Amino acid sequence: MIAAALKRMATELPAGWRTRFAPAPTGWLHLGHAADALCVWGVARAFGGCVVLRVEDHDRERCRPEYERGLLEDLAWLGFAPDEYVPPQRDRTAAYHDALAQLERAGLAYPCACSRRDVAAHTDDVFNEESRYPGTCRLRALNAATVPARRVRMEPGTESFDDILLGPCTQDPDAQCGDFLIRDRRGFWTYQFAVTVDDYAQHIDVVIRGEDLLPSTGRQLRLARLLGRQQMPRFLHHPLIRHLGGIKLSKSAGDTGIRELREAGRSPAEVLGAAAHAAGFIREPRPIIAADAAALFGG
Ligand code: GLU
Repeated sequence: MIAAALKRMATELPAGWRTRFAPAPTGWLHLGHAADALCVWGVARAFGGCVVLRVEDHDRERCRPEYERGLLEDLAWLGFAPDEYVPPQRDRTAAYHDALAQLERAGLAYPCACSRRDVAAHTDDVFNEESRYPGTCRLRALNAATVPARRVRMEPGTESFDDILLGPCTQDPDAQCGDFLIRDRRGFWTYQFAVTVDDYAQHIDVVIRGEDLLPSTGRQLRLARLLGRQQMPRFLHHPLIRHLGGIKLSKSAGDTGIRELREAGRSPAEVLGAAAHAAGFIREPRPIIAADAAALFGG
């Protein structure tokens, strides 16, 4: 079924359509990243796409250069070669300033002085895992020169998209999270903002990522629309790894690290096989090499 949906998708996209692998250098790559890479490269290789590598280091406090070096090494060890490298997010500050200025000129962004605790205290929906921002600073006209945080206005209304794997999805960003942060109290650009500006500027046609990010998609579509993007990307949210197919060394989470597995003598094929099995891409565990990724998705 997914192969048929992917085939249809590919006929609707330009030749050499673009997808991206976008890890955050806030830790070492683990089996979940390996599964994600299999899906990104697999779908791209099977259906004529091009893979862009983007280092998502928007959170300047949590990112470390050794993690960035590590992820490039681990990807290469696994056998995944990007077709193109785009600048890491630390080098995209001017683009984020421009996008923010565009929203501000349109009256769509405003300074916010609320702490996380303020937002949690005001949230009215206790069943919602996320705190919905109640709009406290919308009418406060705070001094933009002294308050670093910015939020984007969300009006009620839904965003719909046809996920390649999950089918039709509808989300209402205003009900989910309300006006969300595009720059935080520390002055760092947020994930939602950086990823939306980048996917637009870098002409990403298909976003392939784990289904933990599914709730973000509606707000990224809304933000892209507010920034003037006409042709929205397609989305494929794949399952996260659920069970570890016997490769886990002990109970600690660190043991699914690509480095640990490599140092424990596992081959790239064993690691990718375990990742593919744990994500449900194959029924029975077997070794897989990166060049086989296309075959997993119908190529
Ligand atoms: N940088 C995000 C992460 O490491 C992924 C971003 C995305 O695929 O939208 O989880």
